[in-house]
Amino acid sequence: MIAACDRYRYALLGCTGHHDNCTDNLAAAMAELGLAAPECPSPLNLWMNIPIGPDGKVSWGEPLCKPGDHVLLRAAMDCIVVMSTCPQDMIPINGAACTPTEVHYRVVD
Ligand SMILES: [Zn+2]
Repeated sequence: MIAACDRYRYALLGCTGHHDNCTDNLAAAMAELGLAAPECPSPLNLWMNIPIGPDGKVSWGEPLCKPGDHVLLRAAMDCIVVMSTCPQDMIPINGAACTPTEVHYRVVD
């Protein structure tokens, strides 16, 4: 429901210099593979809390997940998966402290 953050979003939030962002993280990860994404796809935001109110209005909430929560994904075809822990620290989408937290992943066969 929410596009990946990018330099334009941070500029709209008042950031005047460089700010890490998920769109650039995707480009950097793809570049390490010698590839380039034709565009930044709509992300699967696993931990974001974007409630939809009874009026249909979307808002940004603090995450509801707890340490140790996990998601298991199964790829049904060969794919490239890029994970970006959103560096958003200007609004509390990563919690009231506005501090992005680490995420761990594991690839299993
Ligand atoms: Zn982001």
